[in-house]
Amino acid sequence: MTLQTAFRTVQNPQDTLWDVVVVGGGMVGAALALGLGKQGFEVLLLEQQAPQVEWRPDSPYQTRVSALTRASENILRNLGAWQGITARRYHPFVAMHVWDEVTAGEVHFSAQEMDEPNLGYTVENEIIQAALWEQLATCSKVRVLFGAKLKNLALETEQAGLVLEDIGTIQARLIVGADGAHSQVRQLASIGLDTHDYEQCAVVGCVKTELPHQDTCWQRYRKEGPFAYLAMNDNISSIAWYLPLEKMQWALSLSDEAFARELGEASDWKLGRVIEVAERAAFPLVRRHAEHYVKSGLALVGDAAHTIHPQAGQGVNLGLLDVAALIDVLVDARQQGKPIGRLSVLRRYERWRRGDNAVVQRSMEGFDWLFKQDASLKTVFRRGFLPLANRLAPIKNWLMSQALNGRDALPLLAKRSVED
Ligand SMILES: Cc1cc2nc3c(=O)[nH]c(=O)nc-3n(C[C@H](O)[C@H](O)[C@H](O)COP(=O)(O)OP(=O)(O)OC[C@H]3O[C@@H](n4cnc5c(N)ncnc54)[C@H](O)[C@@H]3O)c2cc1C
Repeated sequence: MTLQTAFRTVQNPQDTLWDVVVVGGGMVGAALALGLGKQGFEVLLLEQQAPQVEWRPDSPYQTRVSALTRASENILRNLGAWQGITARRYHPFVAMHVWDEVTAGEVHFSAQEMDEPNLGYTVENEIIQAALWEQLATCSKVRVLFGAKLKNLALETEQAGLVLEDIGTIQARLIVGADGAHSQVRQLASIGLDTHDYEQCAVVGCVKTELPHQDTCWQRYRKEGPFAYLAMNDNISSIAWYLPLEKMQWALSLSDEAFARELGEASDWKLGRVIEVAERAAFPLVRRHAEHYVKSGLALVGDAAHTIHPQAGQGVNLGLLDVAALIDVLVDARQQGKPIGRLSVLRRYERWRRGDNAVVQRSMEGFDWLFKQDASLKTVFRRGFLPLANRLAPIKNWLMSQALNGRDALPLLAKRSVED
């Protein structure tokens, strides 16, 4: 029996009053459904299509890769999904090296300096999702429904309805939108969006380089935008090549040879020549922030609530922190006998996460502003900033603790793993 057939699907979801309906089973929605199910909530998870959970060691490297922080590692471990990741493919990185095209300033962060085994892990997104879905298939409290078309929401005080095409209305105490950047849940709930178009794209994919990556993530700030190599297994690196939006089609249409040459130049040949390239993809970059994360009977998590410039690899890490915080809030509410869809309950989640996410978004904007152009004032600042950050231990430690996601008010699931 394949895992595909082992998903716990449901025939008549309209016959049950669900505690939580989660719309979207990407990395964030799947983690939320699993975490809530493990806490004993009755959960219905809606996803457009069944994810691919089967994997073979010779499976080609996927285009989408995430750098996971320590907090995300803890969340995935505590959900029981980490083993599914390590059984497939993942790579710990032990250092980050950041340098600047204009000033030649550079910063080096290492796990050793932090007395940590590593600074994080690079994992293909499909593997993270597969490991979560594998656990979902064993969780009796979570049922899944694939391919249902969402038509409307009816948000009442303390109870919510979700209208599905050909099925009818499903009742829940809480509906959660985990349906990504273009969230239909957010739109149906009439929650506004603050957006900023970076007019940039990220070209991603995996490549093999002539020189070893030394388990290091390399990031070069260029006038056009950053270029990064994220260390993966077998001397493969995942690239993130940021370009002005108008160059997106050009980058996708290059021959493999020309593409490899461009990557070599963009990285200043730091890892020598690019000797193999895999499939590539490109994404326009837009910062989005939902004006509210909650309404009566409704919450947003992950990209449905916020998208961020990926240069510091924080998007899914922030989404997983949303998940862990929301679970804490709902478990507390249940213990206190409060309805989990009550606005005052959900506002605690919003207060916890919205400010934090905004700070990280704005920091990325600051970096983007600082490194994008070669204006003289910025250059003066850049000349000072990178070498300074390398010399001044406190600044550097702060930057490193961000990479490890060492924030003060971490939710329970994000704290040290129960396996430790
Ligand atoms: C180039 C790039 C590099 C990145 N690198 C990193 C990184 O290194 N580290 C990091 O932390 N983040 C990174 N990110 C961000 C990260 O990829 C996203 O934050 C993350 O994928 C968001 O996950 P999600 O589950 O919230 O949304 P999604 O991955 O978009 O998942 C949404 C899910 O909802 C489903 N869905 C949508 N609509 C419906 C519906 N109506 N009904 C049912 N299901 C629905 C979809 O099928 C999908 O499965 C990067 C992003 C980009 C663009």
